Amino acid sequence: MSRKTILVINCGSSSLKYQLCLMPDGTNLVKGNVERIGDARAFMTQKRVSDNKEYRVDSVDNEMKDHKSAFKEVMKAILSPDYGVLKDAGEIDIVSHRIVHGGEKYSDAAIVDEKVLADITELCDLAPLHNPAHLQGIFAAEELLPKIPQTVTFDTAFHQTMPDYCYRYAIPEDLYKKFALRKYGFHGTSHKYVAEHLARIINKPLESLNLITCHLGNGASVTAIQNGKSYDTSMGVTPLEGLVMGTRCGDIDPTVVPYLCSKGYKPEEINTILQKKSGLLGLSGKGSDMRDIIASAEAGEENGLLAFNSFIHRVKKYIGAYTAELGRVDALIFTGGIGENSYKVRAAICANMESIGIKIDLDENKKHIGTEGLLSKPDSSVSVFVIPTNEEYQIAMDGYRITHS
Ligand code: ADP
Repeated sequence: MSRKTILVINCGSSSLKYQLCLMPDGTNLVKGNVERIGDARAFMTQKRVSDNKEYRVDSVDNEMKDHKSAFKEVMKAILSPDYGVLKDAGEIDIVSHRIVHGGEKYSDAAIVDEKVLADITELCDLAPLHNPAHLQGIFAAEELLPKIPQTVTFDTAFHQTMPDYCYRYAIPEDLYKKFALRKYGFHGTSHKYVAEHLARIINKPLESLNLITCHLGNGASVTAIQNGKSYDTSMGVTPLEGLVMGTRCGDIDPTVVPYLCSKGYKPEEINTILQKKSGLLGLSGKGSDMRDIIASAEAGEENGLLAFNSFIHRVKKYIGAYTAELGRVDALIFTGGIGENSYKVRAAICANMESIGIKIDLDENKKHIGTEGLLSKPDSSVSVFVIPTNEEYQIAMDGYRITHS
């Protein structure tokens, strides 16, 4: 199959992350990020992979006031004779975007057309912070690279294989029918990437594998994968459900919300508390970064220890539940910033799990900080792996695959 140059775009409400990849081999040419879009202090950074040459532009006259102007800066950087990697924008074959919410409509990536745009717009209701920003990225690309096909990869798509008894909430059916309230799950691109990567490295068909994948970053989720397909996952109608995260509360008794309302809190305030002031930050009162939590716990600070223990406890709970759901687990995989880098978190999660077949080799575990590896002992019936995620590769691969089929 022919080689294609793919620009991967991940737009947040005030950021635009990008990478330029050659597919199908996955060579990465350049990565960059525009931050604080819309703010007078907006800036962009880019790194050329071949020689690590870095480039930074700070906003002087509000040049990065919206996603379209940010995209213009990205194109300038990619085409720069000094710092860039391309001579002409026409060398880009496909622009592939990450989209958080695809609702029930998308179980795979899609080529952008009017219908896809209308669907992403409709789903802004369920993902008000994310989908509108993604649309800005698509519109900017349409204007600046008008002849180039665009594709979208949804964070929810991988989880569309969940059975109804996993994704339905036990609430009246009309609420599901009217408002599409159900579990969707997120981080699908990452869970799928590490699952496919594991199948490649152990040389077994993915369809033969039962896996538990732990994406532990600032946002965090666990997925049970049965015969290669997502069977259950910890995030819900939004990414708030499930694990204790950097600033999100995860699972909580829903009556907390009306109770706080009865005490005078407004729904928006409660939303901000549960999304931005809870999780590791809420418990520790210190910060949301796991490195700070570990340092605080090790310094003997009670709240730091509480935050660490709560994080570990919730992950263990999901691994136990998913082991029961799957019956047989071939491998447990750690990924995401915390999963890839913190041997302490991995060791704490895997401690005392022998009864469900998990025996970790503490020396092997310590060796892997940001690198791929097998962490379990030879007699562990569940193999434990760390696999650095690569969502951009997966998004580029989707773009490559669906424009070729
Ligand atoms: P995001 O969800 O924002 O994509 P990442 O997957 O990049 O997050 O993970 C970021 C988190 O990874 C940080 O908040 C930090 O807590 C954690 N992290 C990174 N390196 C380490 C480390 N060496 N030890 C513990 N935690 C780490």
